[in-house]
Amino acid sequence: MASKIAPQPGILDIALYQGGQSHVPGHANVIKLSSNENPFGAPETAKLAFAKAAHHMHRYPNTDHAALRAAIAEVHNLEADRVICGVGSDEIITFLCQSYAGIGDEVVYTEHGFSMYRISALAAGATPVCVPERERVVDVDAILGAVTKKTKLVFIANPANPTGTMVGMTELTRLAEALPPQAILVLDGAYAEYVEGFDGGATLVESHDNVVMTRTFSKIYGLGGIRIGWGYGPQEIIDVLNRVRGPFNLSEPQLAAAEAAVRDQEWVEKCRSENTRMRAWLAEALMELGIPSDTSCANFILARFQSAAEAQACDAFLKDNGIIVRQVGGYGLPNCLRITVGDEASCRRVAHTIGRFKGQDI
Ligand code: PMP
Repeated sequence: MASKIAPQPGILDIALYQGGQSHVPGHANVIKLSSNENPFGAPETAKLAFAKAAHHMHRYPNTDHAALRAAIAEVHNLEADRVICGVGSDEIITFLCQSYAGIGDEVVYTEHGFSMYRISALAAGATPVCVPERERVVDVDAILGAVTKKTKLVFIANPANPTGTMVGMTELTRLAEALPPQAILVLDGAYAEYVEGFDGGATLVESHDNVVMTRTFSKIYGLGGIRIGWGYGPQEIIDVLNRVRGPFNLSEPQLAAAEAAVRDQEWVEKCRSENTRMRAWLAEALMELGIPSDTSCANFILARFQSAAEAQACDAFLKDNGIIVRQVGGYGLPNCLRITVGDEASCRRVAHTIGRFKGQDI
């Protein structure tokens, strides 16, 4: 039977998710460089903690996430009561939209901004407002030009996905201070750990009552498969988000693995330096093939081809050779492919295969 029951306004404007492919027919050993995952996986400490906590799976999990919040606060020098944990940072983004944006409200994000901002805004009934960037970099003046009395949330990922670019803290401070009183600036730090010495915006959160930071365990911590992230903000905002958070949104194995991971800063250090090394190598190898990219601050490179057709043809060639990268036409970048920085062997394989596509040896 076909259902004619209509969903809430805006829901049908959300396209079904297209990414996430991990298999290529006919290829047993696929190289997956499409989801910005850590090529080294999760730290052993997190795997052990996950398995141990799984023994108690008949029990409902802790609802207050106190141990994990305390660990996050200790490592990042934050206040534990102002940390909230969710099913990926995606869920924190959802909580923000559910709590602060509804019908008639506007949610601002930028031209090449992460897809969840628009999805969560539409799911909450709000109107997404997409603002142009300047040469793939967030443009604070353009954002301020688009902000109105209806703006409730402004989302900026720093570093950004899929461009890999960053906007400076001076600019972000200027934005936070120029926003109207009803608007929250959300700094999405999913890739913050890849930038040596960067606090993801925590300092701005501490000094401004309208700024929230989101973070994830999916990237440098290698826990994408178990879905856990967190947010940090003014106490009043975190209290609001906790009201919409399901009391048992995270399982004990998720919580235990994340706690072990955040305490394993040696792992973070190692993954960051390997990423920095191979990212520079890959960017240079692509440049030699005539494929430029912006300087990336994250764990991926946005490779710019001469045309959308060339990008698509290269993507197909890579797939035929068992390598999955990400087309980013949906982000307004049809002539680009986003390539996750893998381990050394994967970086060499992808560069070599793109070289073959270009008819050049590398
Ligand atoms: N923000 C950005 C900018 C991202 O790229 C991602 C993951 N692709 C997320 C948030 C969400 O990450 P997760 O839900 O896995 O924490």
